[in-house]
Amino acid sequence: MLSDTVRKYPFLDDAFPVSLGFRDWGDFLDSADFPLASAAAEWILRRSFGLPAPPMPMEDRFLHEGFHVAVRILGSLSDEFLIRRFSVRESKKYSRMLELEPYQVLLSVAERLGLPVERDGTGYLVPVPRYLMLSRYLQDPSWYLVNQELRSGRVVLDRGRFVRLLEVSVMLRIESLARGEGPDISGLFPDLVSELMAIREEARRRFRTPMGRIDFDAFPPCMKSLLNDLRAGKNVPHSGRFAIVTFLHALGMENEQILELMRSAPDFNERVARYQIEHITGKISAKEYAVPKCATMLAYGLCPKGDPLCDRVKHPLQYYRIKRSSASGRGSRTSGRRSRGP
Ligand code: SF4
Repeated sequence: MLSDTVRKYPFLDDAFPVSLGFRDWGDFLDSADFPLASAAAEWILRRSFGLPAPPMPMEDRFLHEGFHVAVRILGSLSDEFLIRRFSVRESKKYSRMLELEPYQVLLSVAERLGLPVERDGTGYLVPVPRYLMLSRYLQDPSWYLVNQELRSGRVVLDRGRFVRLLEVSVMLRIESLARGEGPDISGLFPDLVSELMAIREEARRRFRTPMGRIDFDAFPPCMKSLLNDLRAGKNVPHSGRFAIVTFLHALGMENEQILELMRSAPDFNERVARYQIEHITGKISAKEYAVPKCATMLAYGLCPKGDPLCDRVKHPLQYYRIKRSSASGRGSRTSGRRSRGP
């Protein structure tokens, strides 16, 4: 029997469908539950991805099963962008529900997510290593460890911030469920799958926004990595978004184009992203922020190096200019040889 908490928060059930008494997924797919669970899964996915979805009141049981079918559909597609977008949106939904729960439920959910927490007065104490692992997904500098109150090797969080940290745990759990073992059931949902893939393609198309005269091949490894993470729909930390925005701006990219590149981020919010870009680039602020130096990139864990040229530069823009000029030099030498002909 599943507890009420697990029924309400289906991501806590990491043994589905065995947890409901089915032998395995095959047994569940053959059961009378599957058609209703499929309808619930479609409803959950359509709501999450902003696709037209009919109102569908149903028993909690089918929402629980539907959640797992929805996750399995995404797992079958093995598409990281769709998995991440779903996990971000669903974790936000569950976070709003958790905000209303008594502290006992919060502790129970945390424990089931493998987050060892103690309550002390009105605060929640989270071990530092775990805090660091989860807070790197949070963009605001207020989450930096240096800004935290520490007590006996643990970070003290108020209720609101603890729920926000739980939200990250939920997001990671959903992603892990989607990447877990299970049958490929995507063929059972052809219409839904083609609509999801259209969303994916649209995100890809947006990312392919022309860069004009900007030469992506000359990007340093740090900026290539940040752009590729955005493209894959990964959660790029605040410091990484800041760095890539300043870099693209310094190369002359328009704010609207930068915004298009940001659109692939799973937690993309146009209003917030536009504000951040316009603030960083000085459009709505008194300051136009500079691209972080290599030393700063290194300190924020954003410097993968891996290129001999990196040993000779102190700034990502310096890397770009050297690489670009050597590439155009090679190009002109090559075209020169060609033009002279045999
Ligand atoms: S050394 Fe500088 S340019 Fe190279 S990857 Fe690191 S931060 Fe980027």
